[in-house]
Amino acid sequence: MNQPTQTTPLVQLHGVSKFYRTDSVETCALDAIDLQIDHGEYLAITGRSGSGKSTLLSVLGLMEPFDHGDYRFAGRSLAGLDARAAASLRGRQIGFVFQFFHLIGDLSVADNIGLPMAYAGADRAAIKKRVEWLAERLGIGHRLGHLPGQLSGGQQQRAAIARALANDPPLLLVDEPTGNLDSESGAEVMRLLAELHREGRTVCLVSHDLSLLGDASRRLEMRDGRLLPAAVASSDRR
Ligand code: ADP
Repeated sequence: MNQPTQTTPLVQLHGVSKFYRTDSVETCALDAIDLQIDHGEYLAITGRSGSGKSTLLSVLGLMEPFDHGDYRFAGRSLAGLDARAAASLRGRQIGFVFQFFHLIGDLSVADNIGLPMAYAGADRAAIKKRVEWLAERLGIGHRLGHLPGQLSGGQQQRAAIARALANDPPLLLVDEPTGNLDSESGAEVMRLLAELHREGRTVCLVSHDLSLLGDASRRLEMRDGRLLPAAVASSDRR
């Protein structure tokens, strides 16, 4: 079997389509998407509400099945992957950051951050060491014993980013990361994401907020389930 190399794209979607069906309506949420994300890219995808951004992120994150097409992750086709194998791959290779943080309210910040490592079977000492390191790095080292509800929105999002990094995944998927934050905390979160990208992490961010696209190395736009080059003013190009 060919071993993937750094030159193998991290993500390759070919002709990926996804439909949502109810009794009376069929919605094409993803329409024959071709997308390649290379190692170390910071890809930002913008688009109006309902254009398919969250669906794309869910498919990329192996959280939703799709109807047609092919998805390769680090060169490996995911066709026929069962739910357990998908969960294992997701847990080790992909970190998620969501608009509403999705922290577990009755677990401490430390336990929330360490959860992906616990799921992956890491031992307690390794979890403790990494959680403390990540929390310090993200400026919430003094909040590890708190519950998420005792943290500000910005601190909760930093805890969620720490959790996303717990298993040191190569890919971070980020959905409207500042949508629930004040502007100062939002700017701090965006600085953190840019820093993680500079350190070599691959980031794919989706947002309807055009002002969040500035740090990205590539920008695309979703329109009615299709991916297009982002429409940006020429003075805004990098
Ligand atoms: P965005 O993230 O850009 O707001 P979504 O990916 O959430 O867009 O939605 C894309 C399209 O799919 C929309 O038309 C939306 O109404 C539809 N959709 C999303 N989730 C579902 C679902 N669970 N059932 C039916 N339709 C859905």
